Amino acid sequence: MTVATGRAGVLGLQGDFIEHIRTLRGIGVDAADVRRPEQLDEVDALIIPGGESTTIGKLAAQYGIIPKLRERVEQGMPVWGTCAGAIFIAKDVPRHPHPIAGLMDITVERNAFGRQVDSFERDLDVPAIGPEPFHAVFIRAPLIARTGSGVEVLAKLDDGTVVAARQGRLMATSFHPELTRDARLHELFLSLARG
Ligand code: GLN
Repeated sequence: MTVATGRAGVLGLQGDFIEHIRTLRGIGVDAADVRRPEQLDEVDALIIPGGESTTIGKLAAQYGIIPKLRERVEQGMPVWGTCAGAIFIAKDVPRHPHPIAGLMDITVERNAFGRQVDSFERDLDVPAIGPEPFHAVFIRAPLIARTGSGVEVLAKLDDGTVVAARQGRLMATSFHPELTRDARLHELFLSLARG
């Protein structure tokens, strides 16, 4: 699938942004890392990678990213937070010690499945990307504990835990879609930039 979306950015302050850039380039998208606020004007969509949300939040505040990011989202730029990125874009994160962008009307609980050793993989049913299950890698993953009224659930675990959601042009996933070869969630996200 060719994605005519202009340029996609990946916040490159910390975490696995290189893997996202590789996935995007693999589907023919012009992708670059973003580290300074003014670079947000040069991209048409932004992914916030997994990593450590406290570090991403602290650096984003230091670099002056947060106000500019809010401005770009108001202008309609799609943003997708994966794992730590989902924490960073949530409006509500109990006990988070550092700034977050607070974009999406969800409550996200950090490290909700236990410590590093409790990382796990699951084949998830994600109807929005088609009938084939999506192999999802969870690493010290957060869960989406509450979704606001404008938020659509994209995927749940068997016990009903929400692990992927969308609100307009904002998307959040608890897991790491950049660590598998399946680019369907990246394509879904880029379709928000076109739509
Ligand atoms: N536990 C991390 C945090 O709170 C997120 C882990 C990840 O992004 N893989 O930031």
